[in-house]
Amino acid sequence: MDTVTQISLQQRDKAVNWHPYTQMKTADEIIPIVKGQGLYLYDNEGKKYMDVVSSWWVTLHGHSHPYIAQRIFEQLNTLEQVIFAGFTHEPATQLSENLLQLLPDNQNKVFYSDNGSTAVEVALKMCIQYAHNQGKEKTKILAFKNAYHGDTFGAMSVSGKSYWTRPFESRLFEVVFIDTPNAENLKSLQSQIKEIADEVACFIYEPLIQGAAGMLMYNAEDLNNLMKFCREQEILMIQDEVFTGFGRTGKLFAAHYLTEKPDIMCFSKGLTGGTMPMGITTCSQTVYDAFWSDDKYKTLFHGHSFTANPLACTAALASMELLLQKETQMNIKRISQQHSEFIKILTSHPKVENARQIGTILAFDFQTGQGTSYFNEIGKKLYNEFLQRGIIMRPLGNILYLVPPYCISSEELNTVYQNILEVLDQFKD
Ligand SMILES: *Cc1c(COP(=O)(O)O)cnc(C)c1O
Repeated sequence: MDTVTQISLQQRDKAVNWHPYTQMKTADEIIPIVKGQGLYLYDNEGKKYMDVVSSWWVTLHGHSHPYIAQRIFEQLNTLEQVIFAGFTHEPATQLSENLLQLLPDNQNKVFYSDNGSTAVEVALKMCIQYAHNQGKEKTKILAFKNAYHGDTFGAMSVSGKSYWTRPFESRLFEVVFIDTPNAENLKSLQSQIKEIADEVACFIYEPLIQGAAGMLMYNAEDLNNLMKFCREQEILMIQDEVFTGFGRTGKLFAAHYLTEKPDIMCFSKGLTGGTMPMGITTCSQTVYDAFWSDDKYKTLFHGHSFTANPLACTAALASMELLLQKETQMNIKRISQQHSEFIKILTSHPKVENARQIGTILAFDFQTGQGTSYFNEIGKKLYNEFLQRGIIMRPLGNILYLVPPYCISSEELNTVYQNILEVLDQFKD
């Protein structure tokens, strides 16, 4: 008994666990977390951390939210799981109804899966088979340079090429990468697309902000123009709102900044308020109709064991209820306004470049004189400095960002800002 308790959780972890995006040999000591509540995570020594990255952008209302927990508990005692082929249940149906009401009015059907990457896989398969079911084979897919759509093979294929994808490069399918649109390049993008339009199965994009690439932001009007052109070329559009969905950009969905409507949308991350893994792919009636047939070979052959898991659906229902409450909407507004004020201060700091914001997401480049790269060593130093101060920020290389849960108070947010300024001064050399 004694020997067991003497082995630390870190040691036990190291013996059996393999962590994501982690070079296990050179990794720093990892931190055992024993509790989460609201904005805070607590380690095994009682130290608390402000989780201002929402645990990889998933937590919306804070950790261990009692209302979501209660709803999941009730569902757990009622129906925990049921095969979703040949059967249905209230939580999935209610969630589909509620979600569709909030989306652009051309979104008509909901397909469930397990995470952001699978939501993207489903979307890609819908588009490729959409053509196939109509007797066409479209071999090309359009995506943005620097895109990130997930880590499974299809999602990797449509993501920008990097060190991550290098070992798999020869196994990825053909994708044409284009620049994100701006006021100057629209014409050139249009002619690039026009040349191959007949062969393009779909265009997939992160709307308004490329998250994993380093919170790179671009303009709604420019995206709208590009979407309009794709619509005219009859290219299906997949809007990946895995990150931007559920209030992050200041509106419920990035779609609400746009007048053009995508054919397909992807959701995950904030979908369940960050409590349970789930992915959703929605589509228009037009897409759905291409599969609607007496011909069984026109079926969408895709599914997962846990498709539309009732617990995850219930978590999403509870989270969306909280999201639509006036108080949450006011918090989102307040965080956005506080960020705007802080940007003014940040911008004048000599170590800060390109301070930017959309809604509750704030980002800036830490000037290193070595350019921007994920493998920039400064990121690790900054990460450790913030950790010591009890703040979880996980820089993307030298790019620092905040994606706080909506429960963060204005005082807590000011504390984070103050710490950022102190750390910047400390690293001013
Ligand atoms: C995180 C992310 C994904 C992948 O989601 P996972 O749940 O991590 O597989 C896909 N698209 C975007 C835009 C993301 O930010």
